Amino acid sequence: MLLIRPGIILSFDITMTLLSMAHRLQMRLLTWDVKDTLIKLRHSVGEEYASKARAHGLVVEATALEQAFGQAYRAQSHNFPNYGQNCGLTSRQWWKDLVLHTFHLAGVPDARAITPIADHLYEDFSSPSTWQVLEGAETTLKECRKRGLRLAVISNFDQRLEDILVGLGLREHFEFVLTSEAMGCPKPDPRIFHEALQLAHVEPAMAAHIGDSYPCDYQGARAVGMHSFLVVGPEPLPSSVRDSVPKEHILLSLSHLLPALDLLEASSLMREGGGSK
Ligand SMILES: [Mg+2]
Repeated sequence: MLLIRPGIILSFDITMTLLSMAHRLQMRLLTWDVKDTLIKLRHSVGEEYASKARAHGLVVEATALEQAFGQAYRAQSHNFPNYGQNCGLTSRQWWKDLVLHTFHLAGVPDARAITPIADHLYEDFSSPSTWQVLEGAETTLKECRKRGLRLAVISNFDQRLEDILVGLGLREHFEFVLTSEAMGCPKPDPRIFHEALQLAHVEPAMAAHIGDSYPCDYQGARAVGMHSFLVVGPEPLPSSVRDSVPKEHILLSLSHLLPALDLLEASSLMREGGGSK
């Protein structure tokens, strides 16, 4: 029982509820990853590339393009990190070079034939119609805002993200959209998380980040003192991730977020209670 004023004694349940409500106010900001957390491609990259190639009279297997894209993307990201900003590239040129390399690896070395395909692909991937909102994303964002939580985006993405979010009807939920291209560095670089916290004027302990990448989202946010939750798909997690992330930080779907936040706040409250004894 808690004595809040001389002569007024509250039951344990009411005390816990009041403390919980007071404590709940402490979580102020949720930052969100976007790709494969809130939205995903309607078709695989291989299918999109194959379809665009077909429209230009070129037949290339989607599976070959998918595999080649993975290889080319890793090389391009390694050689020219964060859309080649420090190498004098624009993100548009970065993507165009990646498409040329992808088709080259898939057995089409003729850059002149691929250039118009690359231009069209850049436009296609800028279009909201190429993307779809993941199940539960919109409802969860609305419910978070109803609770008074402030929302923002931290995404390893180029300048096209803002328009994609507008087109999908999600932009209105966020106070700001911070991309790695605008910031000049990608997650998990702590500077991008610090920038978001500074923009929101929120302490890291009062913020949580939600995303599907263990190193970029989950670990990146925790490294700056934020809370974080890892969105996972149906595939089994690698054992290294499974062993490093407490179950209560794993979201099997976005509908698990609010209960997970409740649990986080309750456990924090219990720790505070335990610490004050
Ligand atoms: Mg992601």
